[in-house]
Amino acid sequence: METKQESRISPRNGRRVILFPLPFQGHINPMLQLGSILYSKGFSITIIHTKFNSPNSCNYPHFDFHSISDGLTDPSAEDSTTILITLNAKCMVPFRNCLAKLVSNTNNNNAQEDSVACLITDFLWQFTHVADEFKLPTIILQTHSVSGYLCIAAYPFLRDKGYVPIQDPQSESPVIEYPPLRVKDIPKLETRYPEYNYPLVSAIVNNIKASSGMIWNTFEELEQAALSTLPEEYFGIPVFPIGPFHKYFPASSSSLLSQDQSSISWLDKQAPKSVIYVSFGSVAAINETEFLEIAWGLANSRVPFLWVVRPGLVDGVEWLEALPRGYLEMADGRGYIVQWAPQQQVLAHPAVGGFLTHSGWNSTLESICEGVPMICQPCLADQMVNARYVSHVWRVGLHLEGKLEKKEIETAIRRLMVEAEGQEMRERITCLKKNVDACLRQGGSSHQALGRLVDHILSF
Ligand code: UDP
Repeated sequence: METKQESRISPRNGRRVILFPLPFQGHINPMLQLGSILYSKGFSITIIHTKFNSPNSCNYPHFDFHSISDGLTDPSAEDSTTILITLNAKCMVPFRNCLAKLVSNTNNNNAQEDSVACLITDFLWQFTHVADEFKLPTIILQTHSVSGYLCIAAYPFLRDKGYVPIQDPQSESPVIEYPPLRVKDIPKLETRYPEYNYPLVSAIVNNIKASSGMIWNTFEELEQAALSTLPEEYFGIPVFPIGPFHKYFPASSSSLLSQDQSSISWLDKQAPKSVIYVSFGSVAAINETEFLEIAWGLANSRVPFLWVVRPGLVDGVEWLEALPRGYLEMADGRGYIVQWAPQQQVLAHPAVGGFLTHSGWNSTLESICEGVPMICQPCLADQMVNARYVSHVWRVGLHLEGKLEKKEIETAIRRLMVEAEGQEMRERITCLKKNVDACLRQGGSSHQALGRLVDHILSF
């Protein structure tokens, strides 16, 4: 699909950028969007990717793709953290070899090859400093919010202060150093290998400190306070908040699952702002009891709903088997369920009035960009921080806390979709949406940051 931006492509500048996405949907989308943005600015793009969750190269005929082995034997049997640990343990050698080949090709070859300017790598890769061997500058792509990242990076500090591991009696207490977070909003790093958390965090921070820059999928007007704290901690490392990326290039071409377009034809038949869209992203999983609580919360709210039930969302269940027979009929035909939706199109659809979300950073940004207020049900990692910011800083959504229960869900949906409180949130998020439009315009904050990023890469 050609977008307005693609039709405004700068002339080639003779420089190549190598991108190395982490192979999860929420990381692949922003990295490939960034690739498209830099391509539109004249750079040639090479993607190094794992075999696991490899992007569809056919959707990017102008990029050069290189696959490396990843050592995963049965990823479907593992949780995302275990996969991350394995990838970081097994990918270093294949990545280094691939990089060596790419760099030497351009160094030794004829003048027709673009010279490699830098590597751009996801912040969760731990070994990409091997690029130093080839004197290749590395820029880190941050796929979380600034506030979410800062809280993860502060893990050792939070441990020393006694906030983590989280003890139940103190979970409501404020984290004085990180307002408005409470102890229970500190990112949950749930893993089978808890001893791995601290080395992971320090590797992330050290990689950033050794890098030549940080790119953020956020914009200044949204996260000004958090962005202003970065120079203190990361002195001298240039920071480029150029987001939201998906407003330059949509994520549909980097979707790993096929997006069910019938969602849009179903939405076409609904009244303006009447539908609550429900999705927990690509990784979060819930149990069967929680799934049924959501199902009844949706049905009892009497609000029309479009629900993404990704295969694998419910532990131990293939897809919809846990739903009572005739559930959708019982919901009076007000509901529609798909396995995967064209989310950006859904959120931009006039019929959508709210989003029940797991508060992944891409989903949060996509909702803000379309002016859709949220109900947040965070599950892990930075999602807890995002939910707190949505409900208590930007005040554009409700935060479901505690156990997932049908009555709570029904009440939250009605508060957001029907009551005056929801209308106020909608007005506030419409103001944020206007900031998005302004930051991307000529002279806007993200537009300027992108100009600085392009100059920075050309200076290597
Ligand atoms: N997404 C999608 N279709 C869906 C659900 C999600 O295309 O049905 C996309 C969504 O637009 C977003 C990404 O998947 O870009 C999910 O990223 P996020 O950071 O929100 O959550 P994660 O999947 O990483 O937990």
